[in-house]
Amino acid sequence: MLDSRMIAPPFDCQACGACCSYSPTWPRFSTEAEADLDRIPEKFVAADLSGMRCDGARCSALVGRVGSATSCAIYALRPQVCRACVPGGDDCLMARRAFGLDDTAVTPQGNAVCEA
Ligand code: SF4
Ligand code: SF4
Repeated sequence: MLDSRMIAPPFDCQACGACCSYSPTWPRFSTEAEADLDRIPEKFVAADLSGMRCDGARCSALVGRVGSATSCAIYALRPQVCRACVPGGDDCLMARRAFGLDDTAVTPQGNAVCEA
């Protein structure tokens, strides 16, 4: 029987952050409840309230250096699109390629989540 603890995720999001730096139109709001959006600090929200505020292509809530060590300053409050980006999935691989990071992941894990 496989021990799930032995199955490594395809990538370490906390050594990546590529999807958080890929496009200013990516971390947009969609199906979030108004109450949840209200909990995101205003400094991280775009002026038109359409999504996360970005500096260039980089989400303002991303902390650290892409491809090295990163984290999300609002991880528990992050938008749905961020939760839907699965390590090893198509969006993930596209973002990683844009930063010249390894994109040779195999099948994503069923319970994988972005942990940047
Ligand atoms: S989901 Fe993929 S692109 Fe996003 S931080 Fe994780 S490994 Fe990087
Ligand atoms: S996971 Fe966090 S840092 Fe990354 S795009 Fe979403 S809100 Fe921004």
